Amino acid sequence: MVDFIDQNIIEIRERIRASAKLSGRDPAEIKLMGVSKTHPAEYMLSAAGKLDILGENRVQEAADKRLDWPSEERTPWHLIGHLQRNKARKALDIFDLIETVDSLGLARMLDRILTETDAYSFPVYIEVNMSGELTKSGVVPQEAASLLERMMQYCPRLSVEGLMTIGPNSDDKGDIRKAFEGLRLIRDELRSLSGLHLPELSMGMSSDFEIAVEEGSTIVRIGSGIFGRRSAG
Ligand SMILES: *Cc1c(COP(=O)(O)O)cnc(C)c1O
Repeated sequence: MVDFIDQNIIEIRERIRASAKLSGRDPAEIKLMGVSKTHPAEYMLSAAGKLDILGENRVQEAADKRLDWPSEERTPWHLIGHLQRNKARKALDIFDLIETVDSLGLARMLDRILTETDAYSFPVYIEVNMSGELTKSGVVPQEAASLLERMMQYCPRLSVEGLMTIGPNSDDKGDIRKAFEGLRLIRDELRSLSGLHLPELSMGMSSDFEIAVEEGSTIVRIGSGIFGRRSAG
């Protein structure tokens, strides 16, 4: 339906494949998420069958887009924006996975809501703020281990399956690489501390996904590179 989107997806997949090859990885390990924020639901729907994951950073925007969503279209939806506690219930309802758990308070609230439903486990990632930028959410790297430990203790219905980060706002490729490498190293450390598998590393966006793939990303989150530029605001 929207030709330029199909073409962009083909090109992004090709670049993922090239970066994976360069770093000796199997391209099949890397999932492509399309992030259609501010773009119409039709864009997302036309792309859904060619994407592995659909990402939204606002609960309400996702809810609106899902209103007329065909039930046979089953590509999973991930929340990738900061989650306010008053939207937690709605987020659990709409999304298949929440990538942005960054505090014990939020985790406990999600867990408590889940206990009101049937016995049931819900997949999440912990968001880590690797850049130290105050505008970004995420737990600071030094606190990731204790957050995971407490979630394992207090939030039995949350299944932590990986980590997520947003790369630094920088043109310096060295800084960007350091952030992604850092997330992978934290994952390795948490893995040995917790015994959890933690297979997923959600990192890399339109401007930096190739570096993320070289550093071990398993999910790249692409917005403008697939759907075109967003209007500001
Ligand atoms: C918007 C957004 C993306 C995609 O950004 P692009 O630079 O357009 O690819 C990825 N991740 C998060 C968390 C976002 O908010």
